[in-house]
Amino acid sequence: MPEIPEIASRAAEMNAALAGKKIQFCEILQPKCLNLPVDQFQSAVTGAVIQRVTYHGKWIQAETSQGWLLVNMGMGGEILLVDPVHLPVKHRLIINFSDGTCLSINFWWFGYVHFVTVDELPLHTMTAKLGPNVLDLSESEFSQILKSQKGKLKVFLLDQTKVAGIGNAYIHDILFLAGLHPLRALTSLSDIEIHQLYQGIQNGLLPALKKGGAFYEMNLFGQKGNFQMEDILVGYREGLPCPKCKSSIVKIKTGGTSSFICPTCQPEK
Ligand SMILES: [Zn+2]
Repeated sequence: MPEIPEIASRAAEMNAALAGKKIQFCEILQPKCLNLPVDQFQSAVTGAVIQRVTYHGKWIQAETSQGWLLVNMGMGGEILLVDPVHLPVKHRLIINFSDGTCLSINFWWFGYVHFVTVDELPLHTMTAKLGPNVLDLSESEFSQILKSQKGKLKVFLLDQTKVAGIGNAYIHDILFLAGLHPLRALTSLSDIEIHQLYQGIQNGLLPALKKGGAFYEMNLFGQKGNFQMEDILVGYREGLPCPKCKSSIVKIKTGGTSSFICPTCQPEK
């Protein structure tokens, strides 16, 4: 599932490559990914000029001259800038631009392509309910949000309404870098531990972001991300030695999810 390193990379690529392009027409092969009936969606986006592309949580948000195009890749997929004769075999939606290029969107499983006017954006509940992008927060802002919450650490970090952008792939290394067990109670964290957590989030996400995201996702031009399996510290490395203390990494059940931790570096207390 794409998380901040992949989403922020795609948004930056789209911002650089798509700004100024005018949507000529849109082909929709999967109407259920839309928030509007097909004909309404098509007329809403036709003629729109893309102005800038940003992201919020796991949503890519393109501001156009006619409103916001909002894309959520769900479990993953590809957004590719191609010319129409080189369309990928798998696609669910094609946005054709007036310069002859097109954007092909494919979801591996299911995703969303929504269009809202500027006035409707605050009413788009799927994005309006999201907390701030976790990488946009200062340490004191992050600390304030965390201290206003109760419950377990991992559940908090994955709750997109509190802080947005962390998912099930990068969270293992974030918690390992912070030296914190996923089941720690938020109210038990000291200021030093919250500082470690803030650092862990930066150091767990930025290296992947700088590498254009994970190897299993493609960029706008069809190249794979450069963040490789061997760049991962403890995630999905059950039985292998901890990179800090050489203890065996274990996979544990944490509520409805699994977690990979070093039991020595991340004691439950
Ligand atoms: Zn360790």
